[in-house]
Amino acid sequence: MFIVRLKKKSLRLVLAVSMLVVLGVRLWAESKPTIEEVEGVDLSVLSGRTIAIDPGHGGIDSGARYNGQIEKDITLELAVSLAQVLKTYGANVVLTRDCDIDYYTRGKGGKRNDLLKRVSIINQSGADLFVSLHTNAIRGKEWFGAEVYYNPKLQQNIDIAEIVQQSLRNFPPGNKRQARKDLNILILKNIDVPGILVETGFLSNPREADLLANPTYQKNLVEHIAKALAYHFSHSVAR
Ligand SMILES: [Zn+2]
Repeated sequence: MFIVRLKKKSLRLVLAVSMLVVLGVRLWAESKPTIEEVEGVDLSVLSGRTIAIDPGHGGIDSGARYNGQIEKDITLELAVSLAQVLKTYGANVVLTRDCDIDYYTRGKGGKRNDLLKRVSIINQSGADLFVSLHTNAIRGKEWFGAEVYYNPKLQQNIDIAEIVQQSLRNFPPGNKRQARKDLNILILKNIDVPGILVETGFLSNPREADLLANPTYQKNLVEHIAKALAYHFSHSVAR
């Protein structure tokens, strides 16, 4: 008798839990915008927003070098192109660098100081949001796809990462990457305003290295980042 009742009870519990899970998954799927919704966003919502852009590396720090491409050059090209798009729609843009420089200091903590300088530029910029741009590289030529990194210390970081990752789903076509949580990336940990780091693609993949150096692909990619940011601003509660 007792066993039967317990079984009934646990069956009811299992049913209730699975219904909640189904409901939760459905709600989550509904809250995730389609690529068409992001593409159709009104970019004028960017007007008056301040967005900080950090082109990764620079100066003595080239970043990744693969297939004839250099990370610091591509991140700068992408950053300048993204800045142009954002400014077209009335946003104010702050760049942590707009030429081939770095913020290394001699002796101890060289690279760390370079990153901390970028953090302080962004923290003091009054930006509503920031985007740090990088290119990926790994041993092996087959890996590809833009990938967004975030620190979950702010809910907005997660939201922005999800929407930008969704918007970059076709960069390049077949990109199945998901937004990635990372607690160790120094700038994501130390910047106070909401934001993300985008690994825009793999220089170690010869085909993607060519794409990332191509001005048309660059323009298309940054436009999709801009649309995702606009989507975030138009749907974010905290204005
Ligand atoms: Zn990098």
